[in-house]
Amino acid sequence: FLAGRRKATEVAHAVWRSIVRKGDTVVDATCGNGNDTLALLKMVADEEGQGRVYGMDIQDSAIESTSTFLQMAVDDDHQEELVKLFPICHSRMEEIVPKDAPVRLVAFNLGYLPIGDKTLITVPRTTELALQAASRILSSGRLISVLVYIGHPGGRDELDVVESFASSLPNDSWVSCKLQMVNRPIAPVLILLNKK
Ligand code: SAM
Repeated sequence: FLAGRRKATEVAHAVWRSIVRKGDTVVDATCGNGNDTLALLKMVADEEGQGRVYGMDIQDSAIESTSTFLQMAVDDDHQEELVKLFPICHSRMEEIVPKDAPVRLVAFNLGYLPIGDKTLITVPRTTELALQAASRILSSGRLISVLVYIGHPGGRDELDVVESFASSLPNDSWVSCKLQMVNRPIAPVLILLNKK
C-alpha cells in the first residue's frame, strides 16, 4: 500500500482499491469536495451500471461542490448517475442506504474542508454515532475506513473516540487496525475496521 505514496489519502485509496470491486455499493460519509467520491466511483462503476456510491455531507455547499466536481471529472453521464448525494449528517446513513444493498466499504475522511468554513468540522459525538451506524450496515468481509486528522484543535479528541470505538469491537468478529506515519507525527491516522 505504501509504494510511492506520501499522502495518507493515497494510502487509504490503495487500501480501498484492494477490497472494492466493480458493481459494489460503497458509502462516502464525508464528501467534502468530492475527491474521495470520485475515487470510489472509479472503483465501483461497471458496464452494467451496478455500482453505487452513497455520499453525504452536513454542508449543502459540499454536496454542490462534489456534484460539480463529478460533472467536470466524469465524461459518462451514466457513471455520474451511480452517485447518490445527500446533505445529511453521516449518523443518519441508514436512512439513505437501501437495506438490500450489501455495502463493501464505508469511508470517513474526518475534519474540515481545507478550503471552506473551518468551523464546520466533524465532531466526536456524531462521528461515534456514524461509526455505530456503519458497523450495522456492513456485512462480513467488509471495511470501515476512517482517516483522522490530528493536527487541528479537537483532532486528537476525535482520534480518541475513533480508537475507543475500534477497540470496543469484539475481536472474534472484527479486526481493528491503526496505520500511522511514525516519521510524520501530525500526519492523519488511518483506522481500518474489517468485519470478519
Ligand atoms: N472527502 C472529502 C474530499 O475528498 O474532498 C474531504 C472531507 S473533509 C476532510 C470533511 C467533511 O466532513 C467536510 O466537508 C464537512 O462538512 C463534513 N462533515 C462534518 N460533519 C459532518 C457530519 N456530521 N456528517 C457528514 N459530513 C460531515
